Amino acid sequence: MLTKLRDIVNNVASSSDIKQALNILVRETCLAMETECCSVYIADHDRQKFDLMATQGLNPRARRVSLSFDEGLVGLVGRREEPINLAHASGHTDFKHFPDIGEDIFNAFLGTPIIYRRQVLGVLVVQQRDSRQFDETEESFLVTLAAQLAVVFAHAKAQGFWPNTKGTLLLEGAAASPGVAIAKAWCDVSQPRLDLVFPASCLDIQKERDRLDGALSAAIAEFRRLRKRFDSELNQDTLAIFDLFIHLLNDPMLRKAMNERIQQGDMAEWAVKQTIDAFAERFHNMSDAYLRERANDVKELGQRLLYFLENQDIKQWHFDEPIVLFARELTAAMLAAIPRDRLAGVVAEEGAVNAHAAILARALGIPAVMGVEFSPQLVHRKLVVLDGFKGRLLVEPAEHVLKEYQRLHDEELELQHEVESTFTKQTKTADGERVHIHLNAGLSADTSIAINRGVDGVGLYRTEVPFLMQRSFPSEDDQVKQYRSILDCYPNQPVVMRTLDIGGDKPLPYLKIEEDNPFLGWRGIRFTLDHPDIFLIQVRAMLRASIGRDNLAILLPMISGLSELLEAKALIERAFNEVSEIAKQEQETLKKPKLGIMVEVPSLLYQLDAVAEHIDFLSVGTNDLTQYLLAVDRNNARVADVYDTFHPSVLAVLRQILENSQRLKLPVSVCGEFAGDPIGAVLLVGMGYRQLSMNTRSVAKIKYVLRHIPSDALQHHAKALQKLTLARDIRNASEAFLEAYNLGGLIRVGK
Ligand code: PEP
Ligand code: MG
Repeated sequence: MLTKLRDIVNNVASSSDIKQALNILVRETCLAMETECCSVYIADHDRQKFDLMATQGLNPRARRVSLSFDEGLVGLVGRREEPINLAHASGHTDFKHFPDIGEDIFNAFLGTPIIYRRQVLGVLVVQQRDSRQFDETEESFLVTLAAQLAVVFAHAKAQGFWPNTKGTLLLEGAAASPGVAIAKAWCDVSQPRLDLVFPASCLDIQKERDRLDGALSAAIAEFRRLRKRFDSELNQDTLAIFDLFIHLLNDPMLRKAMNERIQQGDMAEWAVKQTIDAFAERFHNMSDAYLRERANDVKELGQRLLYFLENQDIKQWHFDEPIVLFARELTAAMLAAIPRDRLAGVVAEEGAVNAHAAILARALGIPAVMGVEFSPQLVHRKLVVLDGFKGRLLVEPAEHVLKEYQRLHDEELELQHEVESTFTKQTKTADGERVHIHLNAGLSADTSIAINRGVDGVGLYRTEVPFLMQRSFPSEDDQVKQYRSILDCYPNQPVVMRTLDIGGDKPLPYLKIEEDNPFLGWRGIRFTLDHPDIFLIQVRAMLRASIGRDNLAILLPMISGLSELLEAKALIERAFNEVSEIAKQEQETLKKPKLGIMVEVPSLLYQLDAVAEHIDFLSVGTNDLTQYLLAVDRNNARVADVYDTFHPSVLAVLRQILENSQRLKLPVSVCGEFAGDPIGAVLLVGMGYRQLSMNTRSVAKIKYVLRHIPSDALQHHAKALQKLTLARDIRNASEAFLEAYNLGGLIRVGK
């Protein structure tokens, strides 16, 4: 049996065409189980249907059979997610008779679900004329076969070799930049690849050094040019990545490392690869998803060096009509090389939603899908629909599907226009209730130029980035410059700066911290209280930056109780006294900043009364609060479905924090991702929160959503959700609520 099993799975897996693979599957399963009929149904979750994709034994015309998920015995197998074994199928209450299918002659039925990572991909069925139950060995054979097929199918699905009823090739990836694009695909797989550079030695060391110098100069010139090219379209934060590239290319350590390898006899390409890999590794080991993605930026840098080692000039593309660009790794240079009106969308095999290219695509408003496995032969020059909301691509879709997407595309343009036209207005609910929208800045580099006209200030400035990007602690003067520039961007609005939230999970390259449980370890305020030198320098820098200004507020991360707050407060007091002296000498004023704490460690919920008299405001960090309340690592993909801010307990805690802060007369804001999610924001405002802080890309959307719903409806909605006890139901009800206001289009899939 085992050999038979392995043969079937191997034959299915080695077939290049999924239809053919399914035909092999049903034929060989019939043979192996010595039964008369085998069929495979594939689930289409969009249509909620099982489609009969291949059969041996049923009428071939029956190939057009589609069963909805709640229909027939096949539907029952899918719903129950377990095998069903019957001697007389037609006697079962769920049996559904299809007149043309030719099933009448079969009595015995054994169906088993094909499940991959909790999702039912299909149902495998064997049938027999004899009225007898399939025995245990047969049942376990089919179950084992289904489990192995699930992996093969999931892989085929990821590569786009997956049938759907529209006869369309479907590719899936991560939704990286929202929007719909409809255009011909253009695959560029010509870029040199770092992963394909292998050890090679050189004879002429000087020649290799010259080649490397030439490539470094060309790359620096290119990044300077790109910075200029995007200058009017992107804000300083986004442009900063080019400065980082230029800085790295000029970095004596990086140059030295490459030159040393050449000196030892390595060819320039191999020297670049080894050095870049070592630099990228540093970022790759960080558990913060955003910082991990910076590893890809370093690789992009390496890629460009490779390019210039082989080419003198920058490639320019000319297209007569808009295209969707497919690339293995998307680079800023590619985005720049194609005129905006010719670039309808972008798709990349490598990288995730926080990759630099994805951030750029978002900032430029180009729909993007990242992490898509594609085969150039199957997509090049074909018409594709790119759905940047759902992270999927349809290649050569049927006419009616195309029309549907065209409609969506037009609606989206209209909506975008409307969203942008109200962007700079104050945020109010439909009945005029004021909501303050603040920006999360610092970590996310995607602030758009006009952003500060549309927000009420900065609700969370994450100060970690300069600490992580450098080779040593940034000096007090460097920090002053950085903080002053952000305070000056928002002259009449509050800027909440959080003290360093660094630790085991975001290790500094120059300060190794090895811990088994980094999220429960030396993080945030725990680290800085143990390093009062670092803390004092940072707070002094913030205070010095705020001399002569009055918009600084200081926020402390990871506070778990009163004692940490008191200790931090004493240090802030000390820094304040010191900087007051400097201000006095400069004959300037130094205003005492407001002090707040993050509510993200659950123990603080029981200390709010005790801390209230020592602080001016609270800021709820739903990202960590969810993590610690549900005991689930926020960065672990394996438990990603357990990490759910819609969990009724998280929502109950959010309600409780608001009630307490109102009782204690403490202003409160929410600054986790939840506040920037349309259904989260609606829920928070409905509960009574009036200050939300979010990433740039959420601002326009959230403002738009809130302007269209009256506050009593929001309140009613939040109250109604209180009765629901399952996260899934809460999410569904929230989506339906937005649909009812015609705002369903703004719900972005993914976080
Ligand atoms: C949070 O925990 O919700 C938060 C805003 O902080 P960070 O994501 O930086 O940990
Ligand atoms: Mg946090």
